[in-house]
Amino acid sequence: MSQTNQRAYNFNAGPSALPLAVLEKAQQELVNFRGTGMSVMELSHRSPAFEEVHNAAINRLKALFAIPDNYEVLFLQGGASLQFSMIPMNFLPEGQQAGYVMTGSWSEKAYQEAELLGKPYEIASTKDNKYRNIPALDELQFNSTDAYVHVTSNNTIYGTQWSEFPDTGDVPLIADMSSDIMSRPVDVSKFGMIYAGAQKNLGPSGVTVVIIHKDLLEKAKSELPTMLKYSTHSKNNSLYNTPPTFGIYMLGEVLNWIEEKGGLEAVAKHNEEKAKLIYDAIDDSNGFYNGHATPDSRSLMNITFTLANEELEKKFLAEAKEAGFVGLNGHRSIGGCRASTYNAVPIEACQALRDFMLDFQQKNS
Ligand code: PMP
Repeated sequence: MSQTNQRAYNFNAGPSALPLAVLEKAQQELVNFRGTGMSVMELSHRSPAFEEVHNAAINRLKALFAIPDNYEVLFLQGGASLQFSMIPMNFLPEGQQAGYVMTGSWSEKAYQEAELLGKPYEIASTKDNKYRNIPALDELQFNSTDAYVHVTSNNTIYGTQWSEFPDTGDVPLIADMSSDIMSRPVDVSKFGMIYAGAQKNLGPSGVTVVIIHKDLLEKAKSELPTMLKYSTHSKNNSLYNTPPTFGIYMLGEVLNWIEEKGGLEAVAKHNEEKAKLIYDAIDDSNGFYNGHATPDSRSLMNITFTLANEELEKKFLAEAKEAGFVGLNGHRSIGGCRASTYNAVPIEACQALRDFMLDFQQKNS
């Protein structure tokens, strides 16, 4: 059996599917990386061979995501979760407030960290609607004196996604893009900062990508522990301490793969086609499957749905597992079903899931 045939239909929410071509390339150069006589994991992070990998990944990210020159790209550790704390630590001074738009569990977590460190407030929340939607842009009332405004661009657990972002004027807009970064083109110039754990669309876990406007960097507090200051990492090209070298190498290779696919426009179109297959199965099911998100807020990355009752849902998940589908259980906090269709999930996996859903409905209604 070829490697391709052994690949699972992987709908995991993160860590999640990586492109097969990238895995095969990594395998091929694992033992002797580009003539160095060692793997990329064994290289010194100060060696020219690693520096080339590191800088190429940064430059590729800048090019593919069309990041303007007045931004820096940092590779940090501690996941997006550490950013929940680093953001208020660096950018929320005493006497100022920061506005948070609450669209799900990850917004709540970000807010809770800010509460430990300063004074956040809720600009809007869709909690009363079970986080089924993203608030309308004209409902967002923030103050021009806010230190920043924080949004979660894609809500991994509830399956909603912002299609447009608010214009916050001079107030820096900060976005957690952990679960949709580089799944579509975004106007980076609207943001003060974008951050994301790499483990969904960009590579393995262990690397956190931070894209930050130089003006915002200038505003950061200075009296902080060294590792928790963005300026430490920016001054040292993210090589202040030992970075996650293998993760950065993989990230660079995933970016190459995105480039080969035709860049973000092409990837976005493909993601739309993939998600449509599954949303159509939901919408055409006459209520056998129920989408959690309201149609105008649907995520192209995490498709969340329920069946008529828990018993039927259990049967669906058990039979799906039996048929080779992985990761279709909803997040443990809300249950239901979720298919995560990140960049590297092939359309064939989505077609197979659609077929499975149609078949299951026919047999069980
Ligand atoms: N934000 C979002 C939107 C997420 O989906 C996740 C992880 N699933 C996180 C933050 C937390 O990321 P990490 O595990 O990298 O800390």
